[in-house]
Amino acid sequence: LGLYGDRKNSAGLEFGHRETLDRLMARLAQPVAEIAARPLVPGAAGATSEEAITSPSDRARKVGTVRNAAPADVDRAFAAGRQGFARWSRLPVDTRAAALEKLADLLEADRERLLALLALEAGKTLDDGMAEIREAVDFCRYYAVQARKQFGEAEVMPGPTGELNRLSWRGRGVFACISPWNFPLAIFLGQVSAALVAGNAVIAKPAPQTPLIAFEAVKLFHKAGVPEDVLMLLPGAGDIGAAIAAHPQLAGLAFTGSTATAQAINRTLAAKNGPIVPLIAETGGMNAMIVDATALAEQVADDVVMSAFRSAGQRCSALRILYLQEDIADGMLEMIEGAARELNLGNPLEVTSDIGPVIDERQKAMLSDHVAAMSRTQKVRYAGSVPATGNFFAPHIIELDRAEALTREIFGPVLHVVRWKAHQLDQVIASISATGYGLTLGVHSRIEATIRKVTDALDTGNIYVNRNMIGAVVGTQPFGGSGMSGTGFKAGGPAYLSRFALEQVISVNT
Ligand code: GLU
Repeated sequence: LGLYGDRKNSAGLEFGHRETLDRLMARLAQPVAEIAARPLVPGAAGATSEEAITSPSDRARKVGTVRNAAPADVDRAFAAGRQGFARWSRLPVDTRAAALEKLADLLEADRERLLALLALEAGKTLDDGMAEIREAVDFCRYYAVQARKQFGEAEVMPGPTGELNRLSWRGRGVFACISPWNFPLAIFLGQVSAALVAGNAVIAKPAPQTPLIAFEAVKLFHKAGVPEDVLMLLPGAGDIGAAIAAHPQLAGLAFTGSTATAQAINRTLAAKNGPIVPLIAETGGMNAMIVDATALAEQVADDVVMSAFRSAGQRCSALRILYLQEDIADGMLEMIEGAARELNLGNPLEVTSDIGPVIDERQKAMLSDHVAAMSRTQKVRYAGSVPATGNFFAPHIIELDRAEALTREIFGPVLHVVRWKAHQLDQVIASISATGYGLTLGVHSRIEATIRKVTDALDTGNIYVNRNMIGAVVGTQPFGGSGMSGTGFKAGGPAYLSRFALEQVISVNT
């Protein structure tokens, strides 16, 4: 099983291999059947009307329809989930883990269709789509292995003679998973698979922009052996999410999305007059990269462009503020602009497209407003060009006169640059720390002491040294931040499953 010891990492398709690519392109040229998503809850009726889901790269292209959940479906889902939980939580962990492994195989077998769907519904390029499918598969296999290790046998604790102390883990009950549109398959499925394998029933609410992929994923879970009252889908907007969070029978909630929404969920959970419900939140970041004068210029240019602009900057890990040491700043910026100019924005289904669209008109308008507002006081150094149709937003580089000019996370392909002088490293660290976020951080330096100083000073969750800062790999770079970036434990890491389960200790006088 190689590098990863106890499991296989998903290999994906090799786009550089001509035959593989030709076969894929032929497959992608075939029409994709429209998907009609609806609540997947036993007995649920759904809302009376349905909405069309169109493609962000071409709004004339309909991908499917969604019938959202009706408010009454939330109660129905909890009632069904209680029953499902009673059976599911008693199964041996190996049965639940085997369902995830089966799901991983089903995902790999269906990857061409999933790639098309990720491109059509979420605007993912083929590269990003492939990486996302691999991540989804890796989550399944990784959590299956972790669950067997952690939940398999009760652990006998040391204690006095005449007493047997056994610690074991069990599911919490009906768990909610609320997921974002930027990883509509990997994050959706990562949360759900963790909650399920820990022994919970799950109510999943996908982002309103990407219900179709979620619908397909839930059907694959069912096919893999997860019962319909154990995993349920409630498509809908914030009102459905709020009703789930407020529900008295909620046993735990995993959320990935904006910091503001996580804070709102936290308030809802805290206001409940019942059991104290755990929140697992993965939120945003104002992610910085510090580059000093010893860094390798070509590598920095590549890593900056990759970290800030790939995936149209729509990753919570993406680079937002680049701190360039003054001595090299002009030359570096020229190289970065040169590399940005090479990027091809276009139809995500074309293998030549490096960057697809942003998810919707709202995000596009937010980004345009941000650039317009910044341009009044700051220097817009670079603005790329975009295709005529679709929700594309060009990569931008804005030079700030001070880091504090940027006051919030901007979720898109906008890179902000701040210059610093050799004696100002402490100030740079203080500015990064003052944002209150702690998700990802990049450092490019050949000086060991500088690297150590930065990594010691900041409690950022994922720090990348002399490389790009996106695309954390399951089991290799467990992912998640601190402070305003989330609660931990890290997704794809050894502690993640703990928060989804309850510990129980049985002490027997023998
Ligand atoms: N795990 C992803 C990465 O490392 C980002 C996840 C997110 O955007 O929420 O790039």
